[in-house]
Amino acid sequence: MEYLSLQGIIIQLWVFGLGLVIGSFLNVCICRIPEKISLLWPASKCVNCSKHIVWYDNIPVLSYLFLRGKCRHCQHKISVLYPIIEIITGIVFLLLFHSVLIISGDLVSDYIFYLVFCCLLIVGSFVDLKLYIIPNEITYTGLILAIIAGLLCTGFHNLDSTLGYFDNSANQWMISLLASVVGILVSGGMIFFCGIIGKLILRKDAMGFGDVKLMGVIGGFLGWKLAVATFFLAPFFGLLFSVPRLISRRGNMIPYGPFLSLAAFICLLFKDVSVEIIDEYLDIYVALFLHFI
Ligand SMILES: [Zn+2]
Repeated sequence: MEYLSLQGIIIQLWVFGLGLVIGSFLNVCICRIPEKISLLWPASKCVNCSKHIVWYDNIPVLSYLFLRGKCRHCQHKISVLYPIIEIITGIVFLLLFHSVLIISGDLVSDYIFYLVFCCLLIVGSFVDLKLYIIPNEITYTGLILAIIAGLLCTGFHNLDSTLGYFDNSANQWMISLLASVVGILVSGGMIFFCGIIGKLILRKDAMGFGDVKLMGVIGGFLGWKLAVATFFLAPFFGLLFSVPRLISRRGNMIPYGPFLSLAAFICLLFKDVSVEIIDEYLDIYVALFLHFI
């Protein structure tokens, strides 16, 4: 596809627009899931005057701009996070469209599962930023969907690379399923043991169990190699964010979910390069290991 042809531009605009609309739904999820309110009913209303929001005041980003960030009835300020989350979702949809469909040439079904995965990360991250929890509704849904993705999309995990030791000619879907499960266990396990070591050193809970489950979701969708890459990338984002916070002494609670999510998204975006880097490191360690035995 030509990016700048008329057809290319229309497709990309459509993908971005779809992201904005889904982002609007993610806003509802972020507000309602922690409160255990149904996602479909009742319709959205103003948090201040409780007036229902009509459809033309509910158009992603545009309505916010048109209303200048205020409720039509009571002029109560609408959080700027709403349009920001919609735009983030739109950008995520567009970037994945380029990397997964155009550069890697994966199937549309893979793209759809990756989109669902990123939506889970967005909701989990923003709830974590607000409330310092990652709801089970997000992580359990993610774990189940990761296993379904493994079952339905046998090309999902790039099996030759993920589980190269198995005979890939037989029972593709069994091995693909196994790749999801191995991903969940390896990556959840990594964070779990980090948490235990952290607890021994710091003598307090270093890592929440929500992070363990979130990492399981990441491994289930991306396979264990990209999960390892995520595991090593996330602390860098964590440091960038925490240092100014610690210097200004604004509290010491730092949610880790958003950094894991951001790292997972970057690894997914550059998945072929990330897997290559992990492979090279593995080769070095295997060579070292063989040298010493
Ligand atoms: Zn209002």
